[in-house]
Amino acid sequence: MVVSVDAYGALSRRSSEAVRIGKVLVGGSAPVVVQSMTNTDTADIDSTVKQVAELWRAGSELVRLTVNNEDAAAAVPLIRDKLAQRAIDVPLIGDFHYNGHTLLTRHPACAEALGKYRINPGNVGFGAKRDVQFATIVEKAIEYRKPVRIGANWGSLDQALLTKMMDENAASEAPSDTATVAREALIYSALHSAERAREIGLGADQIIISCKVSGVQELIAVYRALAQRCTYPLHLGLTEAGMGSKGIVASTAALAVLLQEGIGDTIRISLTPEPGESRTREVIVAQELLQTMGLRAFTPMVTACPGCGRTTSTFFQELAKTVQDHVRERMPEWRLRYDGVENLTLAVMGCVVNGPGESKYANIGISLPGTGEAPSAPVFVDGVKVATLRGERISEEFVAMIENYVQQHYQPIGG
Ligand code: SF4
Repeated sequence: MVVSVDAYGALSRRSSEAVRIGKVLVGGSAPVVVQSMTNTDTADIDSTVKQVAELWRAGSELVRLTVNNEDAAAAVPLIRDKLAQRAIDVPLIGDFHYNGHTLLTRHPACAEALGKYRINPGNVGFGAKRDVQFATIVEKAIEYRKPVRIGANWGSLDQALLTKMMDENAASEAPSDTATVAREALIYSALHSAERAREIGLGADQIIISCKVSGVQELIAVYRALAQRCTYPLHLGLTEAGMGSKGIVASTAALAVLLQEGIGDTIRISLTPEPGESRTREVIVAQELLQTMGLRAFTPMVTACPGCGRTTSTFFQELAKTVQDHVRERMPEWRLRYDGVENLTLAVMGCVVNGPGESKYANIGISLPGTGEAPSAPVFVDGVKVATLRGERISEEFVAMIENYVQQHYQPIGG
């Protein structure tokens, strides 16, 4: 069940505009949207299609890809077509830096195929050319009726702007500290660019803002200020979060605070994959963040105890993994077939201490025997003990019970 976060004291969302990106709404009263980004060479059409499909299948509702040169721009409409042939209609977002004005002008099919353009105000061009190049991209967005994310980033903040603001601060009667001025420069860069885009003719319902930094406390401070100062939908993410648990923990620490305060309309977890690791992990982490906070439901949640001295075999961990993998694997099909299946709750517990109790709270739960217990595993369905599993096939039999439960308890979609 998706709970109201307001019931736990969260503030109301502040963004008032809703921005449509293809079939996806961002902002307004829409639920927080999960997005991701490819790391393939966009010009490598087959690899990019494959990765976009994987990200979409994992649940990414928007997928961004870099459009950094002529080959990448030419590939975008072909990628869009190949995805359509596979019935994948996830909106694609073009990430433009330095030459976006040229690429969008020379490749109208790319401009049309993309669902949204991302502009980094720090990388749109330099010197006298910057304003013209920025205006060209905005004009293309107006011409093709596409929204734009104005995404400032601490790593590419306009250095001339920062220097000017530092100088003005130093000359003021009550100077602020350096971090405050830098934060202000980042926010000013994004909001001033949005103002310019509006002057050129872009609608308020075509603008999303982000100001990404890599420090948790900095990000929270920046977005709290942004939420106070604009009503555009906010794209939330800790940039360069890093690898593995560090990246996940840092992103979660920052985003959870902001989401709890009602700040953020779409999120991306910027994880660096381990060599060979699937890119889909960033999607799963984003979904799990939103789902464990009660903001959205994406996939059945598996409650599992950590195990302890009472679980001396590895069977308990293996079953928990089997169940988790099974629901992730089945979810793309279940999602299309069974209404509300994402709210299913499961429990895999290691012994009698908390096993039966926690299993009763789940829709379907199993309490495995701990060390010294009789080799039997009671299964509970909606709080009632319905079976006791024994022997070599506990895993298969429990997974079959999950399948039966799904078929019997969730209405067929369109049925
Ligand atoms: S439920 Fe049992 S096995 Fe699991 S952590 Fe608690 S005491 Fe240990």
